[in-house]
Amino acid sequence: LGGNIKETPIHIVHIAVEMAPIAKVGGLGDVVTGLSRAVRDLNHNVDIFLPKYDCLNLNNVKDFHYHKNYFWNGTEIKVWHGKVEGLSVFFLAPQNGFFNAGCVYGCGNDAERFGFFCHAALEFLYQNGFHPDIIHCHDWSSAPVAWLFKEHYKHHHLSKTGVVFTIHNLEFGAHFIGKAMTYTDKATTVSPTYSREVSGNPAIAPHLHKFQGKKAAKEALQNRLGLRRDDLPLLGVVSRLTHQKGIHLIKHAIYRTLERGGQAVLLGSAPDSSIQNDFVNFANQIHSQYHDRVRLCLLYDESLSHLIYAGADFILVPSIFEPCGLTQLIAMRYGSVPIVRKTGGLCDTVFDVEHDRDRSQAQGLEPNGFNFDGSDAKGVDYALNRAISTWYENRDGFNTLCKTIMEQDWSWNRPALDYLELYHATQSVNCDINSIAEY
Ligand code: ADP
Repeated sequence: LGGNIKETPIHIVHIAVEMAPIAKVGGLGDVVTGLSRAVRDLNHNVDIFLPKYDCLNLNNVKDFHYHKNYFWNGTEIKVWHGKVEGLSVFFLAPQNGFFNAGCVYGCGNDAERFGFFCHAALEFLYQNGFHPDIIHCHDWSSAPVAWLFKEHYKHHHLSKTGVVFTIHNLEFGAHFIGKAMTYTDKATTVSPTYSREVSGNPAIAPHLHKFQGKKAAKEALQNRLGLRRDDLPLLGVVSRLTHQKGIHLIKHAIYRTLERGGQAVLLGSAPDSSIQNDFVNFANQIHSQYHDRVRLCLLYDESLSHLIYAGADFILVPSIFEPCGLTQLIAMRYGSVPIVRKTGGLCDTVFDVEHDRDRSQAQGLEPNGFNFDGSDAKGVDYALNRAISTWYENRDGFNTLCKTIMEQDWSWNRPALDYLELYHATQSVNCDINSIAEY
């Protein structure tokens, strides 16, 4: 990368429907915040446009204030502004109630709500004389930006602006995503190697640079969940509960850990009510069987998630597929040993202590976890049993592994430079609507 990337500030506008930690559902929210912070730290200008959900976590917004209103398509849109982790965020509140639904996703008309938001955000840029160099949109939810921009704005006003589109999860809205790809200047998939500047809980993060912090975190976790305060191997799972995430393997691993005398904690919620009910039954059964060694918390809870990452010895991520996967990266930041299925981003970032020395050293890293192939109980047992045995039989080795993991750098600095290169490339080719750079 040439020095000019640092010398010439560019202006990037993200149009997104999630942002950590104020409106986060999954990894998309982490990427928007982490990438924006790192790009801003390289002296570029970043603005983020987000719907003003009624369920926003406003405690984490500084200088929150009413900015102005405008009209689009007969609807009044009120605009608020504030700072989130030092980033400038515009909150759009269309006065048609679209974002007063108590949730980010899950209304019957999500496509209509987000489509409206995308168009309203572009209209705001237009009416207020913004000339961003780059508009960056994400996943199916803000994919309409790609074609609305090309159809309605590019030739009238914002001719110098390039559009970048990032796919976080192809599982959702494949139709929208395909359409956006044909209208965008550059499309990327989230890259695996990336992310540490996620929404760490500031209250506990400073401890974690010290290895001693792990013991305290484990006790805090056991206290908070009413688990027996013994030094037992503790398995953590933090996940959306969907088939993508390998729920049958999660259940199996919880049983196996308990059978081997360990403790297990799961934090997760299922968008599908039949899966949620199934887990409620599973929880009832397993809580009565192993009452002081297991907790299944079937909800979404940001602060508990960080306590689990910090307090667990291992974090299990047995996804059937995983485009990027932030869970294992957050776990490593906290010095928890990842146990993952060898797929997608999990395969790219977790290197088995026994089998992947060459592969990890090619990345300049030491091996940092346990992995497995296959999608049945035998597979997950293979990785889990080795991890638990290491904990029981070679505690010094296990502790050394935790330290190694914590020292590895999964920061946003590198992806930020990659994205800047992409932003610059986008500006120089922004007439070539079909060029696609895969990261
Ligand atoms: P995906 O985006 O497919 O859900 P990722 O691994 O990319 O998967 O990102 C998941 C993010 O969501 C992580 O930051 C994880 O900590 C968080 N997360 C998942 N489930 C919960 C939950 N129940 N409570 C709190 N955070 C959660």
